[in-house]
Amino acid sequence: MAVGLKIVIVGSGPAGMYAAGAIVKKNPDSVIDIIDKLATPYGLVRAGVAPDHQTTKNVTRAYDKIMENENVRFVGNIGLATDIPLEKLREIYDVVIIATGTPKDRSLGIPGEDKDGVFGAQTFVYWYNGHPEFTDAVPNLEIETAVVIGNGNVALDVARILMRTEAEMASSDLADHAAKKIFNSPLQRVHVVGRRAPENAQFSSKELSEFGDLTSAKTYTDKTSLPDEFVSEDKKETKVVNTNLDLLRSFEQIKPSITGRSVHLDFLASPVEILGDTSITGVKFERNEILDGKAVGTGETYEIDCQLLVSCIGYEMGILEGLPVERGVIKNEEGCVGKGLYVVGWAKRGPSGTIGTNRIDSQNVVDRILEDYINVEDTAKPGPEGLDAWCTENNIHAVSFDDWKKIDAAEKERASDESPRRKFVRTRDMLSILDESR
Ligand SMILES: Cc1cc2nc3c(=O)[nH]c(=O)nc-3n(C[C@H](O)[C@H](O)[C@H](O)COP(=O)(O)OP(=O)(O)OC[C@H]3O[C@@H](n4cnc5c(N)ncnc54)[C@H](O)[C@@H]3O)c2cc1C
Repeated sequence: MAVGLKIVIVGSGPAGMYAAGAIVKKNPDSVIDIIDKLATPYGLVRAGVAPDHQTTKNVTRAYDKIMENENVRFVGNIGLATDIPLEKLREIYDVVIIATGTPKDRSLGIPGEDKDGVFGAQTFVYWYNGHPEFTDAVPNLEIETAVVIGNGNVALDVARILMRTEAEMASSDLADHAAKKIFNSPLQRVHVVGRRAPENAQFSSKELSEFGDLTSAKTYTDKTSLPDEFVSEDKKETKVVNTNLDLLRSFEQIKPSITGRSVHLDFLASPVEILGDTSITGVKFERNEILDGKAVGTGETYEIDCQLLVSCIGYEMGILEGLPVERGVIKNEEGCVGKGLYVVGWAKRGPSGTIGTNRIDSQNVVDRILEDYINVEDTAKPGPEGLDAWCTENNIHAVSFDDWKKIDAAEKERASDESPRRKFVRTRDMLSILDESR
């Protein structure tokens, strides 16, 4: 068994929290600092998971228990690269685990992507979820039609949040600034467009079924193009896809003229150009067919007039000081990046899977770390004391877990009846809550 190690985890999302949980269990003498650039913990559970999916967020209760362990500290409001360089962290701790997720939208790679009204999912989702870095993203929602590109659950989240009514969102924690814009928007139509066929869509059945329950909009698709049955060698996939096909059959048949608010689930089309002068006025699509399992353009094009486009085609690692990036993730071998440097979660494997997928992945990396350090008998690194000294020297207002609990309590306190919390969307407002309580 390795001695108690001094470990820093960069990022308090699910992957970082599961890594901390595994270390606490398997090498309880280790001390762990979990730093995050935000003053709030838990990554995409707060800033990604849809505000009307509150039960999914209950996973934070398990993370709270890990944070409350005597050998674990949350040190929020300190960003790797922005507030502390990687080399400094490596100097202070025996082990650095990168758990930053994949903080950059993958680009569509088509002309016109820089026009006003074109957003990546990250920006749009962070905006409606009150992520402090995106509070000022301010999409124009004085619009009639929106297009959402992608056939995964994030695309469904975006379309649903745009179409939900105030009453439907009453028990959500949608950020105030987004609520005001979304509920006052004259938006009539949302097209969710995927490049592959309906049977290839990555929707989960629960998320898809919610489109049958929207109170102010009907959901349409081309039911004539749906296969009668889907069969794969993978039984689980067969079941999920057939359930989704049944759900698609339960929606309305698309027709040339539709009145009233509507969501359109369109398949087999790829965007090829974003139209408009400085702002988006439409998207040109090319129809696809599936050949040898791949979506291939047919050459036939069509256009959808729209004033907003949200592209939900995945995320990647941006440039982060000193870290090698390859194919959108931090280059690693089973989680190991270099001596004393490891990576977990989306930063390691890319943006796929659910919150739970990160658990086993982080556990495996922790096993690897403990194996690498099995013969280490002593460590002379300063650990938490070194970080505290850095924060003092550099005037960094670090946020502890107790501080977060005060912010959390204040958000809950100011929420209206049904809503679980009214989020603070600026770090300075969170810090002033702490100043008031001192
Ligand atoms: C829009 C959306 C909705 C989703 N909904 C669901 C759902 O309903 N159910 C489900 O099971 N899964 C859902 N997922 C997937 C789930 O959120 C991910 O599997 C999971 O969050 C990945 O965990 P992570 O820890 O790797 O990254 P993240 O959750 O992104 O956490 C990364 C953390 O690192 C911090 N960080 C980033 N850069 C730095 C830096 N330089 N310095 C310090 N800290 C930094 C961030 O602030 C963040 O706290 C959703 C994902 C998205 C994008």
